[in-house]
Amino acid sequence: MQINAERLQHFFEVSSEIGKIGETGMCRPAHSPLEKKMFEHAKGWMEAAGLTVRIDSFGNLIGRLRGKNQDAPILMTGSHLDTQPYGGRFDGIAGVLCAIEAVITIAEKGIVPDSSIDVIAFADEESWRFNKGLFGSRGILGKLEEGELQRQDKDGITREQALFDFGCDITRFKDDEYAPGSIRCFIELHIEQGPILDRTNKPIGIVSGIAGPLLLSLNLKGMAGHAGSVPMPLRKDALLGAAKVVVAVNEIASQFTPAPTVGTVGTLNVFPSSRNIIPEVVNMTMEFRDIEMARRDTCERQLKDEIEAIAQTHGLTYELTVDTDIKSSYCADWIKDTIRASCVDLGLEAPELVSGPFHDALVMSDACDYGMIFVRCKDGISHNPLEYASYEDLALGSEVLYLTILNIVG
Ligand SMILES: [Zn+2]
Repeated sequence: MQINAERLQHFFEVSSEIGKIGETGMCRPAHSPLEKKMFEHAKGWMEAAGLTVRIDSFGNLIGRLRGKNQDAPILMTGSHLDTQPYGGRFDGIAGVLCAIEAVITIAEKGIVPDSSIDVIAFADEESWRFNKGLFGSRGILGKLEEGELQRQDKDGITREQALFDFGCDITRFKDDEYAPGSIRCFIELHIEQGPILDRTNKPIGIVSGIAGPLLLSLNLKGMAGHAGSVPMPLRKDALLGAAKVVVAVNEIASQFTPAPTVGTVGTLNVFPSSRNIIPEVVNMTMEFRDIEMARRDTCERQLKDEIEAIAQTHGLTYELTVDTDIKSSYCADWIKDTIRASCVDLGLEAPELVSGPFHDALVMSDACDYGMIFVRCKDGISHNPLEYASYEDLALGSEVLYLTILNIVG
């Protein structure tokens, strides 16, 4: 093995302490002092190997290994270092730390790649803090949307304020965008976050494509009243409507099983949330994901009809907002082939699989060819402190990434 597995393990051990909750859990919010602390460590590791490292105005950490031709389109690799509020030690983190290890190995061997290589830790992939994620990847491609800096987290802090506190200068956004054509390809390593590799006893998988997420917010409004006196037929109970929407999302997505169509209602906020007041307002988030866009469009249409019918039945008004709508995307054949060749070199038989979860790679796929390497995680558990990938598998993943990068720009 060319990469240094021991050093890679050390990276994970350091990372696992920054934002640690309980024994194995993590909470490292985007643009937070904890993320900054993690960035400082990662920056130091890359600088020690001679990479040039900066934090850009979107809050991305970027380390560059300069290539022979510095005008040539770069190879980019990485993932994210922010975590879910009740997350694990590997989601996102694996893709950054394995990329750092792969690229500093290249640097230490004195290999000067044909084109420059950027190792990136994207800002706010996870989306929970401001209910809109993939911020850093959308940022560098000039895809931020009107008004999104004014989104607030649960403490009322806006994205703009959080970026300022992180040390970012939002007037420099334009300077930190990557010009069209300046990125040749993007490669992201990630834990699978599903059970297929674990069940088939394969440490590494090759991603064929990423399902497109449609993320929605729904505000349902009824009428508050005394829970003891308002007769049932006269109620405008927003929570009752919300409950029916929860069931509808589940049934709409389930009609396509065994297709990979999935639908979830993830959050429900009830106002005023008193045991003897009929709920007046419910704010909820919901989503559909699919690799087939036609199927996902059907889900969306059916859900809209259902919400309209539920609102009518219960005398509710509502507002449905699309937070994120990204089309599914397939990985480039030539990158899949290169990853497969690297696996073969290591004697690994790596199956191809679709990614249900989205990643920064999905955003990057708009700007360049992309590929993804999956690393097995135990029982497919993710977004949970129980998330686990072995250091052996992670080292293998980093080695596959190392060989793949060298194959492309070595
Ligand atoms: Zn992730």
